Amino acid sequence: MPGFSTNAIHAGQEPDPTTGAVITPIHPSSTFAQDGVGGLRAGGYEYSRSANPTRTALQECLAALEGGRHGVAFGSGMGATDVLLRTLLRPGDHLVIPHDAYGGTFRIVDKVLAAWGVEHTPVDLADLDALRAALRPTTRVVWCETPTNPLLGVADVAGVAGIARAAGARLVVDNTFASPYLQNPLGLGADVVLHSTTKYVGGHSDVVGGALVTDDDELAERVRFHQNATGSVPGPFDAWLTLRGVKTLAVRMERHCDNAERVVALLAGHPAVARVLYPGLPEHPGHEVAAKQMRRFGGMVSFRLAGGREAALRVCAGTRLFTLAESLGGVESLIEHPGAMTHASVAGSVLEVPDDLVRLSVGIEDAEDLLEDLRGALDAL
Ligand SMILES: *Cc1c(COP(=O)(O)O)cnc(C)c1O
Repeated sequence: MPGFSTNAIHAGQEPDPTTGAVITPIHPSSTFAQDGVGGLRAGGYEYSRSANPTRTALQECLAALEGGRHGVAFGSGMGATDVLLRTLLRPGDHLVIPHDAYGGTFRIVDKVLAAWGVEHTPVDLADLDALRAALRPTTRVVWCETPTNPLLGVADVAGVAGIARAAGARLVVDNTFASPYLQNPLGLGADVVLHSTTKYVGGHSDVVGGALVTDDDELAERVRFHQNATGSVPGPFDAWLTLRGVKTLAVRMERHCDNAERVVALLAGHPAVARVLYPGLPEHPGHEVAAKQMRRFGGMVSFRLAGGREAALRVCAGTRLFTLAESLGGVESLIEHPGAMTHASVAGSVLEVPDDLVRLSVGIEDAEDLLEDLRGALDAL
């Protein structure tokens, strides 16, 4: 089996048979010529909502990177979430979601699916007893995110998978934070892996996209049917940009992790910082599990300020290189206040995050420059 980077650069990306183009062409065509009524040409393409060659290349690449048989690319991570959940769930069904799930995931479950008659229970998935207690005879899906956004909680995917399987529920793992380079949930027992490819997979903050990967032939077929029926597809140029970004995922992730470790060391030693949340720290409650199931600990770092909300807002306003912005996983470093920004939609719910929390997406700039920027903002408090 080829290695990770070989797959990232070559899987699904043979030189174009008609021209020899080394890089997968962008196929903007919405429709494809047919050989007679009902007779598709060799490629099997018909209409680009159903399938498009540039998208196929991306799907094959992502499937290879997650070690799964089927990849399906979407117009966004939420598009993938919507199609998957409405494929797996019916009115009256129940699902379990992490108590600190991505805000958009909680919103779709709480606002869209709830109105559709699907019930949910938020659970701390780091606590397997809490998961067991939340299961019902109608539980069809256990949704897992690890590490979580923005609290960097860690769930034991193999442990969660065993419990979900015994209960007859499917396990979905949102692997956006780790990226396929750091963690492969299918190998740990997950049924489906989800990515917001907007983040590390694309890696350059220039395209929104999502993807699902699964080994389950029947589920892949149903997901494709649902996607074609409802239309949540990425355009060919978006698929191409994502494919271009993913080629360098391994080298980017190594650098993200190197820089995050340097940033964590700075934060952990600074008097203005009350607590650093990073699975790479030995005192993190999920450290051992993370070390077992992840290659390294990632580029996302959160921390709590001794000076509370006021200090958190001032740090966010005080950096120059760390740009104040939502999203994550790009080459550039970003800083944000989850309580007022990415997680504002969960304020007042069980998913509310502490207001002294700052989240960093540590980029791949020179570490010294990042440290100087953060030190300056913290020293000024
Ligand atoms: C961003 C994100 C999503 C949603 O993806 P979009 O591409 O923004 O639709 C889902 N899960 C996690 C963990 C994310 O960070």
